[in-house]
Amino acid sequence: MKELSNITRTVTNSPIRQMFNRALGMKDVISFTVGEPDFSTPSHIVDAAVEALKRGEHHYTPNAGILPLREAIAKSTAHSHGLQYDPESQIIVTAGGMEALMLTMLTILDPGDEFILSDPCWTNYSRQVLICNSKPVFVTVTADNNFQFDADAIEAAITEKTKGFIVNSPANPTGGIAGLDTLKKLAEIAIRHDLYVISDEVYGNLVYEGNQVLSIATLPGMQERTIIINSFSKTYAMTGWRVGFALGPAEIIQKMVMLQENVAACVNSAAQFGAIAALEGTQEPLHEMQRAYQNRRKIIVDGFSKIKGLTCFAPQGAFYALINISETGLSANEFAMDLLARERVIVVPGDAFGETSTCYVRLSFATSEENIREGIRRIGHYMDSLIQGQQLSMQ
Ligand code: PLP
Repeated sequence: MKELSNITRTVTNSPIRQMFNRALGMKDVISFTVGEPDFSTPSHIVDAAVEALKRGEHHYTPNAGILPLREAIAKSTAHSHGLQYDPESQIIVTAGGMEALMLTMLTILDPGDEFILSDPCWTNYSRQVLICNSKPVFVTVTADNNFQFDADAIEAAITEKTKGFIVNSPANPTGGIAGLDTLKKLAEIAIRHDLYVISDEVYGNLVYEGNQVLSIATLPGMQERTIIINSFSKTYAMTGWRVGFALGPAEIIQKMVMLQENVAACVNSAAQFGAIAALEGTQEPLHEMQRAYQNRRKIIVDGFSKIKGLTCFAPQGAFYALINISETGLSANEFAMDLLARERVIVVPGDAFGETSTCYVRLSFATSEENIREGIRRIGHYMDSLIQGQQLSMQ
């Protein structure tokens, strides 16, 4: 048989999935791996999709998504961002934020182009850049700077091949939020170097301690070069529905619609009707979930503050906590494997999110308070035995 494509060799499984698979078959495991809400989709959203199916919404929809959904997205974005987008030409409904990102990259990247990502960043970004035969270029972000991009470091990474960069705020895996000063500097760089900016805002509704999320698209001169990515997955506990969307300049969105025609035709039609109900119906279930994440975050931050040898960056948004394990002297991978073997707790080693992130492990707190408390108890126990063992070996 002839060889399979190069892409199949470059693009590998996410280490998050590998970690998850390793724990399959083990009993009494506490998992902090999966980045999806543990809540069910609010019932009024489910009802709207069921009603759509019952009344015969069984067919292909427009490639860009049904117009009432695009109108609802335009209205909600006008409310949250103060920006106007034309539902006819500047909005596309996609199979999750993931497909919105992939279509955006396929639209703006050519083979050999470079695209700047933060290290650490969400695993899939770099793979999507690779699928476009382009090169991910990593710029390290650190806890000292709330995991925000440093403008000088971005500037230093730009070459004539650079097409743009991604701002993910609130961020996976760091929980960091990009502040106004950072965004202003990034906008200035994007305009000066004529770069595209992808603003991944899928965690935009999960924010803590009065932090504010600002979109780079709202800064002067930026709406015309920014593609906003958003999704129903995290906000409304709708990961399995696969509904996301992108907003941007018409010439980009229309090319994405053309790609969509050849990739998936459209998003599942009933799911699109559910998504309208998500935006237009009561927001109380969202507020309840926000309160639950707030409580879980507090348990995590308080819990880790009492564990010797580990440092937890208090997440400003999203539902991830990044723990610095460098004091243990172990690599993130060794730490994660040992913790799983000895305490049956799964965390994701920082290697999954970037080469310079091997001093971190990530915990997703999209799991029950009970699991979080028990998981922290076990991690505390693990650290006690690690410290005792190190002291013994030093004697
Ligand atoms: N962007 C980030 C930063 C994510 O963490 C995820 C999912 O984990 C996505 C986008 C895509 O999510 P979905 O395709 O479910 O909307």
